Amino acid sequence: MGIIAKPDLDTDWKDESNCLGVDPDLFFPERGASTREAKEVCRGCVVREDCLEYALQNGEKFGIWGGMSERERRRIRRQRALERQAAASAAEAV
Ligand code: SF4
Repeated sequence: MGIIAKPDLDTDWKDESNCLGVDPDLFFPERGASTREAKEVCRGCVVREDCLEYALQNGEKFGIWGGMSERERRRIRRQRALERQAAASAAEAV
């Protein structure tokens, strides 16, 4: 996140989540266990993007958020970091 302060993260979306009332253990599977069921719940969730963004901005390291595993979120964070670096380099070159 660099020098930009973390915004206050809105969590109102949680009230509309598809996983309300679903066993939380489903979203925090043991290492190597299937994430398929959790991702199925996320697939039909109307607040999926909010949930994913919350997890990305909060650096959530565990569990399924927004239909994505830790590894998938790590990939997105890396990609965003590379894009920020590229944008910063482009700005310096001007
Ligand atoms: S995307 Fe998945 S984990 Fe996130 S609120 Fe919806 S159902 Fe729950």
